[in-house]
Amino acid sequence: MAWDFETDPEFQEKLDWVDRFVREECEPLDLAFPHLQFHPLTPERRAIIDPLKEEVRRQGMWATHLGPELGGQGFGQLKLALLNEILGRSLWASIVFGCQAPDTGNAEIIAHYGTEEQKERYLMPLLNGECFSTYSMTEPHAGADPTLFKCRAYKDGDQWVIDGWKYYSSNAKTSSFLIVMAVTDPEVSAYQGMSMFLVPSDTPGIEIVRNVGLYGEALNEGSHALIHYNEVRVPADALLGGEGQAFAIAQTRLGGGRIHHAMRTIAVAQKALDMMCERALSRTVSGGLLADKQFVQGYIADSYAQLIQFRLFVLYTAWEIDRYNDYKKVRKDIATAKVVMPTVLHDIAWRAMQVHGALGVSNEMPFMGMVHSAAVMGLADGPTEVHKVTIARQVLRNYKATDGMWPTEWIPGKVDAAKAKFAEILELEVGNL
Ligand SMILES: Cc1cc2nc3c(=O)[nH]c(=O)nc-3n(C[C@H](O)[C@H](O)[C@H](O)COP(=O)(O)OP(=O)(O)OC[C@H]3O[C@@H](n4cnc5c(N)ncnc54)[C@H](O)[C@@H]3O)c2cc1C
Repeated sequence: MAWDFETDPEFQEKLDWVDRFVREECEPLDLAFPHLQFHPLTPERRAIIDPLKEEVRRQGMWATHLGPELGGQGFGQLKLALLNEILGRSLWASIVFGCQAPDTGNAEIIAHYGTEEQKERYLMPLLNGECFSTYSMTEPHAGADPTLFKCRAYKDGDQWVIDGWKYYSSNAKTSSFLIVMAVTDPEVSAYQGMSMFLVPSDTPGIEIVRNVGLYGEALNEGSHALIHYNEVRVPADALLGGEGQAFAIAQTRLGGGRIHHAMRTIAVAQKALDMMCERALSRTVSGGLLADKQFVQGYIADSYAQLIQFRLFVLYTAWEIDRYNDYKKVRKDIATAKVVMPTVLHDIAWRAMQVHGALGVSNEMPFMGMVHSAAVMGLADGPTEVHKVTIARQVLRNYKATDGMWPTEWIPGKVDAAKAKFAEILELEVGNL
């Protein structure tokens, strides 16, 4: 009977080290170098970051998202979940540990679908933390429904020419290459008619028109690019995987990306709960501690209940991915984690903010950022509504329509069936009366 909620003591030691390291070394980076995680390192920053990466490597915790056959540590998703629920405390931590989104997902698809040359050229520098990458799929007029994409790639001699627009291509301004999804055969269904391309960022014709920022960032100083691919020419071997394979590749990538976001979100929600509890025990109102007020106790209890359910579900889903080694088989649960994530983070961060009063909504506390992150989690890698559709479809696969007029659980019908089952005994009992 294998059903175990314990972490190997050996791995727990590693996690304890990670916990200390993230608090002492990575969280200060968020404050000293905000919004610079995806910028090339200046000599000053390199002098700080490189030794930290070196220490992570020495501890055997570098790039743990890929298996050994793909150049990583081979931890699998469950261990990665236990790691990410610590790393998520700090934006710099995943850079220092070589497992930052969107590069993890990009590395994963190059590892799965790339040729040896492509792996050498793109995957190795990515795994070594020497560069950043961009996943360029969403378009200005369409995101949730990829069948509406228009960006084209057509053959011209032994080259592909990419022509069209992409939107919200994160980190394009600092990445070394982009993975671009484009329509290669408009005559067939979008599911067979799109392909992925590996495109170096300095290829002529790539025009970053605007860098869209998230709320609070200065206009045009964000990280999410609106890109015009203006007749961008790439060689035939820029194709990632086969022609027409983009949908299959996207599913591989987005499955991992979504669950990794969920793992990191546990850390942020836990941080909010920790802050809520500290404040509740520190602040006195109306003759007593906040911690003694039932409303606040309700906030704490509800937050703990949401967080523990979410955490166990994410760990379970990670375990399932390891078990089946196939994101498609775990689609329903990955979608469920994705759907639950924004609500859990929003609710806990919101309550923690409320308990902090005016300080909570100020720019001296991180709660508004957390609430904003919750909104982002409901959109990035697909909106909540679309994932709910996936869940419902997958759940419905286990059911079929009733044959008759009434539902299977219709009580009069079940009573008749029960009577028929016990007819002999019932008749005997009647006879004995
Ligand atoms: C911070 C951030 C980073 C991102 N990074 C990247 C990136 O690196 N690369 C990239 O390619 N994209 C990226 N995206 C884009 C993201 O994938 C899209 O925002 C997402 O797929 C939704 O597309 P859309 O914004 O065009 O919304 P739309 O497709 O216009 O949908 C708008 C709304 O309509 C509703 N809706 C949509 N479809 C349905 C449906 N079937 N049923 C019911 N309601 C529906 C939902 O409420 C949805 O939010 C990023 C987004 C964010 C916020």
